[in-house]
Amino acid sequence: MNVGVIGAGYVGLCTAAVLAELGNDVIAADADKGKIDGLNKGIMPIYEPGLKELVERNVKEKRLAFTHDNKQVIAHGDIIFICVGTPPKENWEVELKYVEAVALEIAQSMKGYKVIVHKSTVPVETGEKVKEIIRRNINKGADFDVVSNPEFLREGSAIKDTLEPDRIVIGAESEKAIEAMKRLYGPIKAPLIVTDIKSAEMIKHASNAFLATKISFINSVARICELSGADVEKVAEGMGYDKRIGKAFLNAGIGFGGSCFPKDSQAFIKIAEKYGYDYQLLKATNEINGEQKKDFVDKIKKAVGNANGKTIGVLGLSFKPNTDDMRFAPSVYIINELQKLGAEIKAYDPVAMEKAKDIFKNVEFCNDAYEASKGADALLILTEWNEFKELDFKKIKSLLKAPIVIDGRNIYSLDEMQKYGFTYVSIGRKPILAD
Ligand code: NAD
Repeated sequence: MNVGVIGAGYVGLCTAAVLAELGNDVIAADADKGKIDGLNKGIMPIYEPGLKELVERNVKEKRLAFTHDNKQVIAHGDIIFICVGTPPKENWEVELKYVEAVALEIAQSMKGYKVIVHKSTVPVETGEKVKEIIRRNINKGADFDVVSNPEFLREGSAIKDTLEPDRIVIGAESEKAIEAMKRLYGPIKAPLIVTDIKSAEMIKHASNAFLATKISFINSVARICELSGADVEKVAEGMGYDKRIGKAFLNAGIGFGGSCFPKDSQAFIKIAEKYGYDYQLLKATNEINGEQKKDFVDKIKKAVGNANGKTIGVLGLSFKPNTDDMRFAPSVYIINELQKLGAEIKAYDPVAMEKAKDIFKNVEFCNDAYEASKGADALLILTEWNEFKELDFKKIKSLLKAPIVIDGRNIYSLDEMQKYGFTYVSIGRKPILAD
């Protein structure tokens, strides 16, 4: 099928590459000329495992092309995906101006029949808005259907998630549009949920709100574990075997970040408010998430004493492993707070340092975990990259000025850290004190 994708960020680029891989003829556009010029030279704008190979193969086999001209995409696509950003406004409402601008552009240049799919995460009833914009501005003789097809990919495994999703949600009103979407997704083996547009839009916000709440739930349990002497890892294990609960998202830590959970959970509170519902549960989820980061800074202060003039080594900057996405990464709050206290920061992240350089000032970026440890008064783990799980602890201990590790992701066993003689502070577990 001929597919157009507008917005070539995480979602648009991965969607375009995967739909091309499935045999479709895809053109993707982005307003960011630098991004498109880069893509046309084989330079990926984001780090995502498997993306570069997939893009290169499909460009070479002429199933995938990039442009900065949305009109070209609109003329080409029988199905047009809107994948532009929906960032938070200052009051956390969803900024819809990019989605609306694209809807207008589609209306003004489309001919014939198009299925217009919003994949961006949008508040319930955005489909109505998009429909209205297009209806008011459409060319004579042109016709369209609007579809909501929310995206559930996880950064770090976006390609796998797009090729093998847990489910595909299609919110649509016409059989013609549903048939087109079913044909497009035919090669992907996944449960297909066909519903009305509003429910499809709501499924996305409800899913992210639930996952964020699960994280805050285990983090609140971790706090009670710390106060009572229980071990949150064991508690989570014991809970996770219950099939009604499940093991996923029960990892205590320094809270959620990234481009989705913080903005989508805050947005859902605002959406509920618009309909007159006070979403207290989700408000608590966000409060707990904020407290988790503050509490981590308190743990650091307690472990190192006065942070002024101390050197703190930081391992991991991205909001989670396998991505270079720094949006709402807990590292941003934690490093800023430590700098306010007068600490010097030495940091290392396997892929996020280029992006981090635009965010942090006066941070010494290191070539590896050992360089970040050298001469530091404490070492922090802020992202659970696999390479941090297999460090040479003897070497780390010899490089640190003081043998203190403060682990915001619980990646080490208490026994191991005790064996190496570290003071080891983690989340929801008994602290270990070096002799
Ligand atoms: P992004 O910021 O990485 O990409 C959005 C792209 O849209 C940018 O490259 C921007 O230049 C482009 N754009 C904006 N206006 C445009 C226009 N008028 N014409 C052409 N291009 C335009 O954003 P993202 O992370 O891909 O997210 C896109 C949407 O998908 C958001 O609603 C987000 O909430 C949702 N989502 C994101 C993820 C994720 O993990 N990143 C997962 C699921 C859903």
